[in-house]
Amino acid sequence: MDAATITSWMREIEASVRAERDHLVQLDAAIGDGDHGTNMTRGFEAVVQAFAEDGGSPPGKLLILAGRTLVSTVGGASGPLWGSALRAGGRALGDQPTFEAQQLVDVLAAALASVKDLGTASLGDKTMVDALEPAVDTLREQVAEGAPLDRAIDEAAAAAEAGMRATIPIQARKGRASYLGERSVGHQDPGATSTALIVRALQRAVTNKAS
Ligand code: ADP
Ligand code: MG
Repeated sequence: MDAATITSWMREIEASVRAERDHLVQLDAAIGDGDHGTNMTRGFEAVVQAFAEDGGSPPGKLLILAGRTLVSTVGGASGPLWGSALRAGGRALGDQPTFEAQQLVDVLAAALASVKDLGTASLGDKTMVDALEPAVDTLREQVAEGAPLDRAIDEAAAAAEAGMRATIPIQARKGRASYLGERSVGHQDPGATSTALIVRALQRAVTNKAS
């Protein structure tokens, strides 16, 4: 994998959050302020734009550019959270021109650590962590077992989707939805939903690259 993989990942994210914008808005309208779909779409459109103006940065630097762009274009909680996640992921790659499966695990693990550090959410708090953490754990396990990378990411995306659905019956303990207390029960978390899209987008980026 290389810079083109990261570019493809960001394009795939942009396309999928745009396609799901209204759904993400509806989910956020139920337990937040209804801006999650527009936040994510605006942010990743800006990332794609920033990449178009980039002159050949290595993959780690591209992730840092993506993170910086999200921080500067997204006002909601998801901007700083995904912004710091992608910057941390980028730092894990340094300046190297290519990376392997184990380093992709390191990128996502650094991203998760950064989200948890900044947002202080744990698994079960009904946030994006509920989708990202199982995805990272699954990817790490699959790669350690020697699974082919496309299989490993497919499993990771399935784990993110299961984590996303598991946010429905629980009460939010972090973010805007936590203000609702028990009334947040019965709704799927918008940030966990976009996170599942982001992991699925990674699978498409890596699979396209391999074919
Ligand atoms: P805002 O809540 O500021 O309007 P968004 O609507 O863009 O921002 O994003 C909301 C999502 O952000 C939530 O659904 C949740 O997944 C995630 N989130 C909010 N606060 C935190 C936190 N402290 N840690 C992790 N994720 C969080
Ligand atoms: Mg919101």
